Amino acid sequence: MSPVIPIKDSWKFCPQCGAATDVVGQHPFHCRKCEYRHYFSPCTAVGALIVDAAGHMLFIVRGKDPGAGKLGLPGGFVDAQETAEQALVREVGEELNLQVTEFSYLASFPNVYAFAGVVIDVTDLFFVSRVASFDGIAAQQGEVTDWKFVAPQDVSSDRLAFDTHRLAIEAYLSASHAG
Ligand SMILES: [Zn+2]
Repeated sequence: MSPVIPIKDSWKFCPQCGAATDVVGQHPFHCRKCEYRHYFSPCTAVGALIVDAAGHMLFIVRGKDPGAGKLGLPGGFVDAQETAEQALVREVGEELNLQVTEFSYLASFPNVYAFAGVVIDVTDLFFVSRVASFDGIAAQQGEVTDWKFVAPQDVSSDRLAFDTHRLAIEAYLSASHAG
């Protein structure tokens, strides 16, 4: 497996003029030849904390890396020109065929996402969410292999794909949403 490096270390050439950069790994990227600059700012992702009537939290089993085979809160990246709230509803619909009807903002945590040899920074936003019904729940082909309802206090860190999801669960539990 090839090494995974921060995205700022992967830019060896200016994407605008093609000049080789004299300083790899700078943030922001700055081309001395054409003055092009690029900030490697985090992208935004959302995650939904959804519990059933018994207080068990809904997790996807991830179909792809990072974290293939591990548990994750339903969610994903916010698209360009999309609100975080729209992304939340869209991603839960895509991943599990469930309709989010209510949500409230819980917390955000900085994350990293390693993919195709580079690591990008991500800001994860978490929402306590409700769905119209669990009827018709279905895993998105390829992206999700299964789903599980687990008591949130019983989900150990090593079962989760992302540390930020553990932090979100802790925030949820300490805010007494479970009661
Ligand atoms: Zn340039």
